[in-house]
Amino acid sequence: MRRIKSPIYISYGMSGKLDGIAAVNTDPLSNDFCIKAATNPDWVCFYCYARKNAKGYRANCVNCWKRNSQVLSESILPLELIPTLRKGTKVLRFNAYGELVNKNHYINFANIAIKNPLVQCSLYTKRPNLVDVTTAPANLTLVYSSYKLNEPAPQLPPGFHHLFAVYTLRYLNEHNILSNCTLECFKCLKCYGRRGATRILEVVKKDQAKYKKYLLTISAADNIKNVREVVTNV
Ligand code: SF4
Repeated sequence: MRRIKSPIYISYGMSGKLDGIAAVNTDPLSNDFCIKAATNPDWVCFYCYARKNAKGYRANCVNCWKRNSQVLSESILPLELIPTLRKGTKVLRFNAYGELVNKNHYINFANIAIKNPLVQCSLYTKRPNLVDVTTAPANLTLVYSSYKLNEPAPQLPPGFHHLFAVYTLRYLNEHNILSNCTLECFKCLKCYGRRGATRILEVVKKDQAKYKKYLLTISAADNIKNVREVVTNV
């Protein structure tokens, strides 16, 4: 029997923080939610790496992501059009680029996880209202990504497994808070399973070069413990 090709494009060549992790991405440049969010300097989206990269070194991917946005949001795809991931894929990130467009988008993601039960999937979203947590299969981790930069007390929506919030180094220092995100997902995998830390604190992209340099100078065991030292001079 001939295999039907899925219209969903899988990115197997992620780099940087997501090196080694496959992703289903969508287009942040044509997503109304992203466009609006990027104009607010109090929101993390104001510093969005995805929009910047989509206009820069990832510009050649935008057509594929745009097609994914369309296909995933237009309708709930029949199971035969849901992709089977490449053999050996262990971890999949939904929307490393982009944000949920609507409820169809979420349901199609949940169905990708269902069709690939051996792959540990993770969805980050700032739109928990589009997620039906009761239908999330066991291999889908739901991460609520707090939209506000330097949010003092972000709350985990019911049914979500982790809360992801972004801070400037200055804020972390001033409030004596420690980052617990190592910026190397494939080695860490905290956000790709339901156990462990429910609150992940990441350093905002614009401060990450300094933070990474600091991480290189200390041992793995101490890599988070002493972040205060690097932020003192920010
Ligand atoms: S905590 Fe770990 S898995 Fe989560 S974003 Fe940071 S490096 Fe990636």
